[in-house]
Amino acid sequence: MGVRCALFGHPVAHSRSPRIYQTFAEQTGQAFDFELVDCTAESFPTALAAFAATPGARGANITLPLKLDAYGQCSARSARAEAAGAVNLVRFEGHNSILGDNTDGAGLVRDLRDNLGVPIAGQRVLVIGAGGAARGILGPIADCGPAALIVANRDSAKAELLAARFAAQGIRAAPLARPGAAFDLVINATSASLDNKVPEVAPSALSPDTVAYDLAYSDDGQTAFTRWADALGSASVHDGWGMLVEQAAESFEAWFGLRPETAQARDRPQQ
Ligand code: NDP
Repeated sequence: MGVRCALFGHPVAHSRSPRIYQTFAEQTGQAFDFELVDCTAESFPTALAAFAATPGARGANITLPLKLDAYGQCSARSARAEAAGAVNLVRFEGHNSILGDNTDGAGLVRDLRDNLGVPIAGQRVLVIGAGGAARGILGPIADCGPAALIVANRDSAKAELLAARFAAQGIRAAPLARPGAAFDLVINATSASLDNKVPEVAPSALSPDTVAYDLAYSDDGQTAFTRWADALGSASVHDGWGMLVEQAAESFEAWFGLRPETAQARDRPQQ
């Protein structure tokens, strides 16, 4: 009976996760099948339960727009998943036991700090977006000790809800049109790049000293947001490829108890 893992979301066809897990599998000699399951919020609970009941099913990643739904499907959750109110990783343990975790923040912080050498402590940080990904990254960024951490979203009420949720960690909400003086680090946690769009944030949020990071990723490292930030003269721009690899490494460790090396998987796929 082979071990099986999966990615649930919509859309998932574009995902590079299978390639990353294949690299980890080859590196560690761990054999398993990785499936992409495209489903809606309505079909997700049934699809997850059916997969969990399959012989060999070990766990799954959950991507947009299902991370909040996944939270509700878990029988137990890690502290960081509880704090986020969103789940991007589940592990199946025994009958009807689905353990939920959130590795988005750990993956982002590891990519920014360890791979790219971008400081967070003492910096002014703006997070754009208030969906499942923003929920996962706000707490771990706050834990790094930024001087200010602002969240802004197209639907401003959602940003205010998140700021209230994380108020104890000093996170504040601001309008997209007036997020505040230029930030050291601007993180695009919206899905706008998937539609080749840029969130309508005031350009004054960026300066020549700003590092711009888009959670969305592409094979050539460029997204609508990184191109926009680059054209504004940002100090550096990065897509979310490294974060994807780092959060996958966290998932792999949760499923197999082995921490893979990420350098090889972080190499861009050949065009
Ligand atoms: P959700 O669907 O949960 O949230 C989407 C967010 O994007 C909302 O805040 C929404 O605003 C905003 N948004 C969508 N379109 C626009 C637009 N045109 N202008 C402004 N805001 C917009 O998605 P997730 O939070 O799960 O994912 C967000 C992004 O992060 C995706 O691109 C995803 O691929 C990426 N991601 C990457 C990871 C990685 O490892 N690199 C990990 C996790 C996510 P509103 O509330 O107003 O609708």
